[in-house]
Amino acid sequence: MRPEFRNEPLTDFSKEENAQAMRTALQKVASQLGGEYSLVIGGERISTGNKLDSLNPSNRTQLIGSFHKATRELADRAVETAASAFESWKSSSAEQRSDLLFRTAGILRDRKHEMSAWMIYEVGKTWAEADGDTAEAIDFCEFYGREILRYAEGQPLTKIPGEENRLEYIPLGVGAVIPPWNFPLAIMAGLTLASFVTGNTVVLKPSSDAPTIAYKFFEILEEAGLPAGVVNFLTGSGAEVGDVLVDHPKTRYIAFTGSKEVGLRINERAAKVHSGQRWIKRVLAEMGGKDAIIVANDADLDEAATGVVQSAFGFQGQKCSACSRAIIDTRVYDTMLNKIVERTEKIKLGDPAEGVTTMAAVINEKAFKTINEYIEKGKAEGGRVLTGGGSDGEKGFFIEPTVIADVKPGATIEQEEIFGPVLAVIRADGFDDALRIANDTQYGLTGAVYSRDEEKIERARREFHVGNLYLNRKCTGALVGVHPFGGFNMSGTDSKAGGRDYLALFLQAKVSAEKVGATNKRAEVGTAI
Ligand code: NAD
Repeated sequence: MRPEFRNEPLTDFSKEENAQAMRTALQKVASQLGGEYSLVIGGERISTGNKLDSLNPSNRTQLIGSFHKATRELADRAVETAASAFESWKSSSAEQRSDLLFRTAGILRDRKHEMSAWMIYEVGKTWAEADGDTAEAIDFCEFYGREILRYAEGQPLTKIPGEENRLEYIPLGVGAVIPPWNFPLAIMAGLTLASFVTGNTVVLKPSSDAPTIAYKFFEILEEAGLPAGVVNFLTGSGAEVGDVLVDHPKTRYIAFTGSKEVGLRINERAAKVHSGQRWIKRVLAEMGGKDAIIVANDADLDEAATGVVQSAFGFQGQKCSACSRAIIDTRVYDTMLNKIVERTEKIKLGDPAEGVTTMAAVINEKAFKTINEYIEKGKAEGGRVLTGGGSDGEKGFFIEPTVIADVKPGATIEQEEIFGPVLAVIRADGFDDALRIANDTQYGLTGAVYSRDEEKIERARREFHVGNLYLNRKCTGALVGVHPFGGFNMSGTDSKAGGRDYLALFLQAKVSAEKVGATNKRAEVGTAI
């Protein structure tokens, strides 16, 4: 018997031995930067000569890894290969698959700091953010490894005399796994692990901004004993090979996390039935957010300010759960602004390889431009920049943590996902107004309320329409098993990663009814379905 699931502890870098271990891992990874990586289809390493480069956002000329781009033909071959592998993998036992996840967790744990170091270089995570990402990936292995054993147990059915009935969960088939770059290990791993632990086979197309960490994870899967073809590693442009994977008649489902625009496009394309296709494709699409923290007039303002600043600027505001709107009761508005600015100005912007850095560069040039445009738009629409607003794209894509006050409900930066270090502060005329503003968005991912009033807290539980609501704490930092994660409305298809319902999304239930002994009259007369 395995012990009950527990979250992987985070590393305390204030202890010198831990800080030293991270520095050693960073040095080791630094000596491996700039490598060349192939596609892997059915275990075969394939090079196309047409490359895409992954660069360090905080040091834009530093090459992290060079990847061969798949052609449309290779994307097609990857789906065909996964379809062949499915014929045997679907019959593997739940124990075998779950053991594979536990072995993967063990290897990840042994290489924890090394995996974090790859993220520090490739996507600009600080030590603490990278450590949290690696811990979450380990959690997904441990959690889904246990969950599949629960799904494999006999499932409860109502008994009738004369029949022995069973409900068994069976896999779906080939999944196209399309993750984002912002949790380059945890989300990429979570989507992939949930796919194959349930007996499906996978074409994994990592984000072009984070292919190296995905490749390192793929190598760990191979080391843990994953048979060739169960997961196929396919780098390439999302727009080019993404469509092939989504359209392919042998793709059974798409497990996507990313922007609303791409998610909706995938959902629409997946609905079309192609020649030879025998099923309706399932789409799991977890998408963006426009997450708000409400601060009521009776809140603990210090706690609230700390929660807002951590949620707004952790990983440069590039979390789907990031607080991009602080909606503050007018009675505490000015005090809160001072507290927010004071905390924001303590953030240390710099190279994430340095342990003291608390914020680094945004992911790439495109994001750098878009975020700066949003800051300008915020000002043009009447917002007041209280701190930040500056940026420097010379060495890396650095944008200061930016607080824009007096943003009007309905303004562009109050409505659109910015995905960068920009916090819009909005004045609310009491709690009703705050809830109304918070809910006036097409998204519904996370949200938080700071208040000492139990009635307000209860109202928020009922009326604040988000998938993950936090009360008197920040709105980021969901833990596997503790806070199953996923949003409403345009934030996604209502799944909850890291929760007990999650693996069911990768499975289908088959019922078999066997007649044994004395006849059951009601079943035999057969007036039901
Ligand atoms: P993105 O939509 O740009 O890309 C996501 C993935 O889709 C990448 O692998 C990309 O290569 C691929 N892709 C791009 N075009 C495609 C196409 N036409 N067909 C198929 N695949 C295609 O998103 P991103 O910039 O990587 O990630 C940031 C977004 O992800 C934000 O909107 C954020 O809120 C969201 N996100 C949501 C959650 C959640 O759980 N709801 C978690 C993390 C991130």
